[in-house]
Amino acid sequence: MRKHTYFRTKYITVVLLILLFPLLTVLSASDYDRAFVQKTADNLSIQALSPYKNSQGIEYWPFCTSKNNQPRYVSGTNPHQGTDLTINVGEYIYPIYDGEIVYIKKDTSAQLGHIVVKSDIGYEEPVYIEYLHVIPVQGLDENDYVYTSIPIATIDEYNRYDSHLHIGRVNEDRTLHYQLYDLFSDVLRWNNGSDLDVFSYPLFNDETNIFSVTAYVSSDTENLDYYGGYGRFSLKYITFHYSVNNSTWKSFNIAEHDNDFRYSFNIKDMTGSKSKDIVRYYITATRDNQSNTDTTFKDAPYTVAYYPAYYAHPSPALTKEQADKIALSLTIK
Ligand SMILES: [Zn+2]
Repeated sequence: MRKHTYFRTKYITVVLLILLFPLLTVLSASDYDRAFVQKTADNLSIQALSPYKNSQGIEYWPFCTSKNNQPRYVSGTNPHQGTDLTINVGEYIYPIYDGEIVYIKKDTSAQLGHIVVKSDIGYEEPVYIEYLHVIPVQGLDENDYVYTSIPIATIDEYNRYDSHLHIGRVNEDRTLHYQLYDLFSDVLRWNNGSDLDVFSYPLFNDETNIFSVTAYVSSDTENLDYYGGYGRFSLKYITFHYSVNNSTWKSFNIAEHDNDFRYSFNIKDMTGSKSKDIVRYYITATRDNQSNTDTTFKDAPYTVAYYPAYYAHPSPALTKEQADKIALSLTIK
């Protein structure tokens, strides 16, 4: 009898799991968990260096294959929590700032060798930069001080992931990711850092009411048809979600941008608001999963990035409660 009951319980559990499985895959536990911090530092006095140098020891800026906050068609973090740079197996990796190693994982059996360096860059808080999918240089340990001129690791060979450097700016316990572009605003080769994050350089002109932001994605893998093998691709559109004076959330799409992927629009005109109105907003970028050019993303089910970045795996629009948590605000002139 006891055994029979056990069997039946197990059977019901299995049936329930089968029935619930589609729901569980859509709403995994991590959906809407916090994953990002969007807190840009303006006019940083110390610019970061590249984590890679060429054979003459000169700064070299590798192609970015997957930006921080980029929706992608993979089973890893989505949107991507960090930036992938194409660097060959065995090449040396250098810290982008002098600093202290605060975390090191030397076990590379799963291609997850990992170093985090804490640096004081004369800003209000230290920055923590992580280097992942690497083999740490032998002898390095936590509390060691490292320098931009001396390698800390080499790129690991393919095991579970294509060989590359995953670099990110994280918080102290490595649970949240910051934007990176502000650390590289003088690097033309990376579009002043815009290659590293889906959204960069948001700007509201409070005289003209013009809002502008740069947004694009990069091809996830090598694609020889484009830009030296790696594409910079337009989004399908960006969506401005807004609430005027705390009224109902509304939105409009914008597909047009300039040659530098800069979207500009007049918020007063587009929202029909008046002088002194308070506009609360967030923006989504929708990556085109039917694009004939951005082909590595074909048929991907998850397509949105947010500004400000905050949630792991959010849907294309937020509930009022979720929106209230991340919304920024501006005052119409
Ligand atoms: Zn990555």
